[in-house]
Amino acid sequence: MAKLLEGKVIAEKIKEGLRQEIRLLKVKPVLASVQAGENAGAEAYAKSQKKTAEDLGIEYQFHKLGLDTSENGLIEFIRKLNGDKSVNGIIIQMPLPPQIDYKKISQFIHPDKDVEGMHPVNIGKIVFAKSRLLPCTPAAVMELLNSCCADLYGKEAVIVGHSEIVGKPLALMLLDKFATVTVAHIGTSKAQKLEEHVNKAEILIVAVGKAGLIKGGWIKEGAIVIDVGINRVEGKIVGDVEFAEAEKRASYITPVPGGVGPLTVTMLMRNLVEAAKSQQ
Ligand code: NDP
Repeated sequence: MAKLLEGKVIAEKIKEGLRQEIRLLKVKPVLASVQAGENAGAEAYAKSQKKTAEDLGIEYQFHKLGLDTSENGLIEFIRKLNGDKSVNGIIIQMPLPPQIDYKKISQFIHPDKDVEGMHPVNIGKIVFAKSRLLPCTPAAVMELLNSCCADLYGKEAVIVGHSEIVGKPLALMLLDKFATVTVAHIGTSKAQKLEEHVNKAEILIVAVGKAGLIKGGWIKEGAIVIDVGINRVEGKIVGDVEFAEAEKRASYITPVPGGVGPLTVTMLMRNLVEAAKSQQ
């Protein structure tokens, strides 16, 4: 039976270190969060970020703009935050109204204040293993692996899902640790090769958003399974992996909820502290 990889426990340890680093800063670090329009999900996420930030001693500034905010209007707002020396990091809450293209506007956040680690400059630096501001979810996955697998060297790692926010940057981060990386995606599924790839994974990371996509019986005996997926099924939150069956075969597995999620927000705060340190 697999051991549970509980993100909350690891997050607490990292937060303790962050509190100490924050105490050493000359001024209280500030995270500016921007939301355009009404969205209950985004507001709930922002509230949880605020709680974590304040618990660590970070000031959380929440800016709510109108639903009719134009792309240029938001870019102008971002420029103001870029120029405000008291603001160390900027996060844009999703989803944005349809008239605003996130990919476009995220490029206007100054790379030094890009605490989501998604600016092309920061993403590009991952190739050279030089990025100080890593994308939060891949960074959370690496922390989880770090907690249970001393060495990734030569390990067979399979990522399912090739999104810009999770799969692609994670592949580069695993390569940097000399894992042998396979990235499976919709094409792999359509070619009916998903089971074959999952079956060889010593380390399996799934980030798709489809409940039950990965059958428990596909998991290699002793594999480490990180389930990033979040799905609501009959009022319950579940991942992409059939947990009950996978748990019998894996050596370690993340629960959903309680695995990757709690660490993702901690990685955001770690980036904010990194940003504040380099700016001060
Ligand atoms: P995206 O929708 O951006 O990406 C999903 C990926 O899965 C795409 O690469 C897609 O390919 C691929 N895919 C779709 N269907 C299949 C299939 N049948 N077989 C294999 N691959 C497939 O999602 P995100 O990366 O943003 O998020 C993925 C999941 O992780 C979601 O459930 C999300 O809620 C969750 N998440 C959780 C976080 C946390 O902190 N716990 C943080 C971020 C995300 P294609 O685009 O070509 O269709």
